[in-house]
Amino acid sequence: MDAMQTALVYLKGVGPERARLLKEELQLRTYQDLLHFFPNRYIDRSRFYPINELPHSNAEIQIKGRITSVSYVQQKRGKRMIATFEDQTGSMELVWFRGHKWIRDQLKINTDYVVFGRLNWFKGNASMPHPELELETNFNKNLKISFYPIYPSTEKLISKGISQKIIQKMMVQLFQNQTAPFSETLPSSILNQYKLIDKDKAIRQIHFPDNPHNLTRAQMRLKFEEFFYMQMQLVLKNSQRKQKIKGHIFETVGANFNTFFNEYLPFELTSAQKRVIKEIRIDMGTGRQMNRLLQGDVGSGKTIVALLLILIAIDNKYQACLVAPTEILAQQHFQSLAEQLQKLNVSVKLLTGSSTKKERHSIYEGLQNGELSVLIGTHAVFENTVQFNRLGIAVIDEQHRFGVAQRSKLWQKNEIPPHILVMTATPIPRTLAMSLYGDLDLSVIDELPPGRKKIRTLHRTDSNRLKVFAFVKEQIALGRQVYVVYPLIQESSKLDYKDLMDGYESLSRSFPVPNYQISIVHGQMKSEDKTFEMERFIQGKTQIMVATTVIEVGVNVPNASVMIIESAERFGLSQLHQLRGRVGRGADQSYCILMTGTKLSREAQTRMETMTSSNDGFQIAEVDLKLRGPGNIMGTQQSGILKFKIADLIQDQALLKAAREQALRIVTQDPMMKDADHQCIKRTLTGLKFDSNIWNFIS
Ligand code: ADP
Ligand code: MG
Repeated sequence: MDAMQTALVYLKGVGPERARLLKEELQLRTYQDLLHFFPNRYIDRSRFYPINELPHSNAEIQIKGRITSVSYVQQKRGKRMIATFEDQTGSMELVWFRGHKWIRDQLKINTDYVVFGRLNWFKGNASMPHPELELETNFNKNLKISFYPIYPSTEKLISKGISQKIIQKMMVQLFQNQTAPFSETLPSSILNQYKLIDKDKAIRQIHFPDNPHNLTRAQMRLKFEEFFYMQMQLVLKNSQRKQKIKGHIFETVGANFNTFFNEYLPFELTSAQKRVIKEIRIDMGTGRQMNRLLQGDVGSGKTIVALLLILIAIDNKYQACLVAPTEILAQQHFQSLAEQLQKLNVSVKLLTGSSTKKERHSIYEGLQNGELSVLIGTHAVFENTVQFNRLGIAVIDEQHRFGVAQRSKLWQKNEIPPHILVMTATPIPRTLAMSLYGDLDLSVIDELPPGRKKIRTLHRTDSNRLKVFAFVKEQIALGRQVYVVYPLIQESSKLDYKDLMDGYESLSRSFPVPNYQISIVHGQMKSEDKTFEMERFIQGKTQIMVATTVIEVGVNVPNASVMIIESAERFGLSQLHQLRGRVGRGADQSYCILMTGTKLSREAQTRMETMTSSNDGFQIAEVDLKLRGPGNIMGTQQSGILKFKIADLIQDQALLKAAREQALRIVTQDPMMKDADHQCIKRTLTGLKFDSNIWNFIS
């Protein structure tokens, strides 16, 4: 076995108790893990702060001086031990709350110490709780290390005495054990092209850098490596799937497609829509299963692309399904597609959580005997009872809710799986798409249909409410319709419902019947009531739609030209952009009004400013990523693929792009990894567990 796979318990100075803590607190099990446990910062060991020049913060710093006395102070919760520490410029206190006897026995009075720790300020006096001390003579002996690595730690580790010094000692021990150089994991072609330093040097320098320059190079090399292996896994997964998994071949473009295209297509396709359809058609003709992500901004026209692809499937005697994230959206897709499909005599049905038993049975039967060609629905379509006869394509209109697992559930049932097209509801930043969906092929609609007027977005506060209402009245007088959306962060939140109902009542007073009619839709209503209210709004019987975010995705009412978002500060950027996308669908100038309180956090202010200044979903998604970080976007927390040890999706975008290019190049040129230069990749990959961080080897 590889020596690097040795359990940490065998490392000198670790032992069973520490090994257990390291595993529990930091998930470190083996030498390999410890080696790839990187410092998150470094202290320049040549720098000491004079006590009279300490920074007024909680910084971690180094000081040099002597302990002049030790005393104890009785407190409610036990004793506190205080050492007075002096240098030539002043004095401060070192404080211990625990372990007094053991520490006191070691402390030497009036002897030169180097002290390291975090500053604490109280009433203008600095102290340092639980500092790390080293006799200056020892410190000078050990000064081979010029930068002091500081590793991530936890409260528990610190309280159990696993200090920075202990972790550093473990690292030193690890390097002493390892006399041979660490083996290279990147091919020389890549090292040369990007002038990366070798693995051995990188791993030594990341822990104990000689100087800042070497540290930067080590970090860059390791970041590249981390991105590269993530991308290798994704790209390989895609290419292996293409080799292994057969797909239905859609050869013909037949009567349904042609009739629709020539007679019923309501508008000319944009060139982006045409390009995307072509990409997808090529993919569906190869005999391999398609797994593709279709990205496009809100309103870019993804639905028509889905419809045309569904028609191709039917022309080739296959069935198709379209899955939407919410019941309302499924209904709306159903209504608009059913209308189109019926003109062509294509049978289509809707399956949702509220379909009756009878409806279900007739759907199951139709799917089995092939009479039913298209099924539209919510995730109810993924249930095991739903069995297609010949499912050719599954289109998933995703609102970041269908995870990877669900994507594959659909096709486990079929011998030859259907082609799968995932359409994102909002744009995803490039880097995130590369990591999250790097195993899928990507098509992008990067163009909006012509003639769209830019939605004007305004930020207003409660004091402007009367003016906003007056504006709404003007718009209604012009024959337009208006959405008023309330946040419903948690389905169960009573307070949010109260806000919604209060808002509805106040609107009813300002917009009284019979001149005005108001619809209301929220998650706690029965599905048929929701549909009824939606219908009234779609048909123009009501002028105002009061709703929670149930209308967030996909709802299409071209006559609606004003979107008012209440408590807009409580929404995330992508949600705000989605909501705004509900207007601007007709020929009229549309407006989005963000209502907030007057006091906003800095982040909320940035969100409002981003919305008022940009209509570009891709740009907004980038800001969102920066504000919230990759882990908080679209329920990605569960995805191991985003847990980087050293690389950073936001800071290191250029490296990620390069790493993906290299992974694609190598898999294309040498899929079997036969090249001598690629042996290191092959070896490294066999040790990796998919979806886990690349350096968490299988043990
Ligand atoms: P999304 O990509 O957000 O799902 P939709 O498919 O709902 O967008 O399309 C938004 C609106 O644009 C719809 O009303 C649709 O009919 C219209 N549309 C789509 N493509 C075009 C086009 N090429 N020209 C004009 N209008 C289009
Ligand atoms: Mg849509």
